[in-house]
Amino acid sequence: MNYKICLTIALVVAHFFSSSFAQIKKADGSNKAIICLTYDDGLETQLSTVIPQLDSAGLKATFFLNSIQGSAKSDVIGQTPEAVLGWTNAAKKGHELANHTLFHACPEKLGWDKSIAIETYTIDKIVTEIKTENTILALLDPSRKERSFAYPCNNFVIGDTDYSVIIKEQRLVKYARAGGDSNSIITDFKNLNIMKVPSWHVWTGTTLQELIAFAEKAKKAGGMAVYQIHGVGGQVFHISIETHKAFLDYLKKHQDEYWVTTFSEAMDFITTKQQNKK
Ligand SMILES: [Zn+2]
Repeated sequence: MNYKICLTIALVVAHFFSSSFAQIKKADGSNKAIICLTYDDGLETQLSTVIPQLDSAGLKATFFLNSIQGSAKSDVIGQTPEAVLGWTNAAKKGHELANHTLFHACPEKLGWDKSIAIETYTIDKIVTEIKTENTILALLDPSRKERSFAYPCNNFVIGDTDYSVIIKEQRLVKYARAGGDSNSIITDFKNLNIMKVPSWHVWTGTTLQELIAFAEKAKKAGGMAVYQIHGVGGQVFHISIETHKAFLDYLKKHQDEYWVTTFSEAMDFITTKQQNKK
């Protein structure tokens, strides 16, 4: 085989590995970008607004839950608490319920009270919280055996210890989402750390154009975009109800270009590819 043919084969192989590693093939052979819509903190506006909008668009998403209201209003007994009902139904409809610890401890410098600041935590305490939240999630959604995880405030350090390694070794969770910004598109699937998958923390007042621009970056790069969303139409870091609805309409309209799926399903797909390429 001469040098030119070898070089051509090498280039074709290199192209295959770099550009088509983790993408979904369209019927015409071109690729789809992967879009994960993830929502944090089990907020009430996610139950009242996000899930109905997703369901009417026929899209599935991931919800990272910490402690939810597990009892009905104090003067009422004998009723299922709204949050319990809401999240149970969300899981039945195919949305992913995932782990965000129990008490959502964050660094004190972000405004957390000392009593719930991560600086006061031990590894044992965070491990217990993650295990407990797994139990709660299993009660809300018995159908799912393995959980994804998101670090509260995108912080994976306690003292000097990166606890992502520990929760992976103990098999408490299967994949974990970390933080990032509006440039955090994932393109190097082969070397992606499945315990620190980057995401864009969507800030208050983010516009439809900005939400679309992130998806388009993923499309252009042949990669994956993970959105980290909080409130919709109210609550923390909220975007408007209309913006959220219009963004879902955009994704729906361009479904030949985007594969919109849950975080775990996307990661199962990527890790299967990782194993096949070893
Ligand atoms: Zn959170």
